[in-house]
Amino acid sequence: MLDYYEILGVSRTATKVEIKKAYRKLAMKYHPDRNPGDKEAEEKFKLINEAYQVLSDDEKRAIYDKFGKEGLEGRGYRPSGDFSDIFDMFNDIFGGFGFEENYNDTPYDLDKAVEITLEFEEAAYGVSKTIKNQYLSLCPKCNGTGAKTKETCPTCKGHGRIIVGNGFIKMSQPCPNCEGKGYIIKEKCDECHGRGYILKEEELHIDIPAGVDSGMRMRIPGKGNEGKRGRGDLYLVFKVKPSKIFKRKGNNLIVEIPVFFTSAILGDKIKIPTLEGEKEIEIKPNTKDKTQIMLKGLGLPDPNTGYKGDLYAIINIVYPKKMTNEQKELLEKLHESFTGEIKEHKSILEEAIDKVKSWFKN
Ligand SMILES: [Zn+2]
Ligand SMILES: [Zn+2]
Repeated sequence: MLDYYEILGVSRTATKVEIKKAYRKLAMKYHPDRNPGDKEAEEKFKLINEAYQVLSDDEKRAIYDKFGKEGLEGRGYRPSGDFSDIFDMFNDIFGGFGFEENYNDTPYDLDKAVEITLEFEEAAYGVSKTIKNQYLSLCPKCNGTGAKTKETCPTCKGHGRIIVGNGFIKMSQPCPNCEGKGYIIKEKCDECHGRGYILKEEELHIDIPAGVDSGMRMRIPGKGNEGKRGRGDLYLVFKVKPSKIFKRKGNNLIVEIPVFFTSAILGDKIKIPTLEGEKEIEIKPNTKDKTQIMLKGLGLPDPNTGYKGDLYAIINIVYPKKMTNEQKELLEKLHESFTGEIKEHKSILEEAIDKVKSWFKN
């Protein structure tokens, strides 16, 4: 089963506008009216719609990013490609009439995404950051047209769109001659060099909550690119550097604890690092290698709910790299003192060997 992002062919950091664009393109391609009797296209169409239902909804997308499809189902959402749902959504997007595209008055997307790299400890405890936010704004000199002087496009006669299609479906499409602008630039605007937009910069102070993880997004409303009717949203997409001490699994943390073999046999108390400073844990006598000790609530908080994960201390038994003659003698003495027990294990093994031998004797 493909990932919803793969189905729509967008990255995990895609903005809403990018998702909508990708959806629109694919939905038009695989629409059953355009592929009559084609079962494969119909299946694809359903998948595309299912993916869009989830990724176009901030709340559902957040759940999907973290917990996958099972997470959505666990919360009572049932993403489906059912046609009844699809056509409601279709009407939302295509304005209820054919495949008319929404009117966009800017040559760029209003929403934008920026990647923010955080140190592990910044993500763990939360951090306030000041960032330089560069965003696009329509050129005030040419009002976004990019033109100093212009003339009406002869292909579309200034409409910016042309009608194409056959039979049931009529589509209006951006005019290929003027790229939907309705005019052709004769002389470029000298402020924006014909681009129609300029770059603006501002400083933003952002409070990043504790517990964010790589791939998580945070929406800053009204800090995206600027169009005629205001600004879109800015999405911060986090990338968290790994820690040298802790391994992360969701909100849980894992720390490996080296324990000397004599401590593992005799038992000991050992101080370990946690996000709340050092904590002492008890190593019980005869502790096995890779034993996990769980420290409740010492993991990372969920940035949305504050619910804390746990810390797992994993025991790694270590043996001496070198031994003095005296230590060797002591160990040999110890070994001899266990003669009875060692014999017992040996006889179990011998029995097993005899049994296996009997299997291939004849
Ligand atoms: Zn045109
Ligand atoms: Zn300009």
